[in-house]
Amino acid sequence: MAHHTTPPAAGTVSIGPSTADAYRLLPLPETLTGPHLDGHVCVWGGETLTPHTAVDLGSRRIGDRRAFPRACRGCTAKVAMLGLQIHGRDCDDCDGDCAVGRALGRIIRAATR
Ligand SMILES: [Zn+2]
Ligand SMILES: [Zn+2]
Repeated sequence: MAHHTTPPAAGTVSIGPSTADAYRLLPLPETLTGPHLDGHVCVWGGETLTPHTAVDLGSRRIGDRRAFPRACRGCTAKVAMLGLQIHGRDCDDCDGDCAVGRALGRIIRAATR
């Protein structure tokens, strides 16, 4: 009787959004002014940011310009928690291995450190 070995299944590691991509999942307010778009003040709360308090949300195109939105840690944590709740409502995988859920969790942990 031939002994048959099954090769291990090819890696099925789900590559979820990186943390940088996860920041792009966070909803930005619809009306942002110059200081918001340039990353001088928090996009959600309008607080003045310093390099120590600012969370870089990742550059992106907004309207017809390139924006560099940043936020304070408090607002980032709040918005990420809200985003996680909203995402979790429609997500069947969040109890297990959900890449989006994990990425949002990383943001929350980083912002509340
Ligand atoms: Zn803020
Ligand atoms: Zn999920």
